[in-house]
Amino acid sequence: MPHTFINTNVIHFEFVVVVNNHKMNALIAVALFVVTLDIGLQKPQHNNTMMISLNNIHKSYETGSNKLHVLKGIDLNVEAGEMVAVMGSSGSGKSTLLNILGLLDMHDQGDYYLDGNLIKNMNETKAAQLRNKFLGFVFQSFNLISFKNAVENVALPLYYQGVSRRSRNKLAMEYLDRVGLLPWAEHLPNELSGGQKQRLAIARSLIAKPKVILADEPTGALDSTTSSEVMDLFQEINQSGITLIIVTHENDIAHKTQRIIKLRDGLIDTDHKNGHTKPVSKPILSL
Ligand code: ADP
Ligand code: MG
Repeated sequence: MPHTFINTNVIHFEFVVVVNNHKMNALIAVALFVVTLDIGLQKPQHNNTMMISLNNIHKSYETGSNKLHVLKGIDLNVEAGEMVAVMGSSGSGKSTLLNILGLLDMHDQGDYYLDGNLIKNMNETKAAQLRNKFLGFVFQSFNLISFKNAVENVALPLYYQGVSRRSRNKLAMEYLDRVGLLPWAEHLPNELSGGQKQRLAIARSLIAKPKVILADEPTGALDSTTSSEVMDLFQEINQSGITLIIVTHENDIAHKTQRIIKLRDGLIDTDHKNGHTKPVSKPILSL
């Protein structure tokens, strides 16, 4: 900061000296340029315009006397509105990374900014607040509550936000409609097919209007046709402006995203823009 003050004084000084000089405008322009440059150099290293910004993230697990270093310095920026696939062999740290992004687990070292918020030394209450505000989750095993019907499952995140039963059920019905499950509103999860269960989980992930949806192998338990339908739904969600990060080990699933990141040995091995994204004709999720 003191450095900025010095340069401000330089401008002032130059302004007084050259006040009657024809070169005044040019000199002021140069001085302003110096200050702009100076302020630019003092910007923090992270990029606050990113939805997700990771800088040198490390994570180890300790089991007994063993320490397993899973993430060994992950650097990653994801812009708002991107749809990204995270790939890598089993055990490469995909879920670990997603859990850190989702504030379900904390990193040991490095900086994580979520929509410009530094995630550091966070207690569970604060983490839960940020999860509620920013994040939606979809898992391979759906994680639905078996004794609650479809509409109650979708409405659940709003229950935690203290929304009245009537309001949350009304909104849940709208989201059920959007994922094509309105006729199944009163049914329990075990009366639904795998694809229907995942669409239900996706509706639940959307209801609190998250900025980012994190999906861990969302098609891992589905046949290829149903997987493709679920990915079409994710593409529609992404077109409504929501940032999506999808962990998968299936190439055809990854190729339905815009960018493929591969993890290897605890680091990002490759990070490619994907040219094969299928355009979606009708944006249905515009709530
Ligand atoms: P992936 O999702 O890519 O298959 P994970 O992130 O689940 O990989 O796991 C990475 C490594 O960390 C694996 O070796 C796994 O056994 C280990 N691991 C994951 N979670 C824990 C945990 N809670 N405690 C100890 N080890 C863990
Ligand atoms: Mg995993």
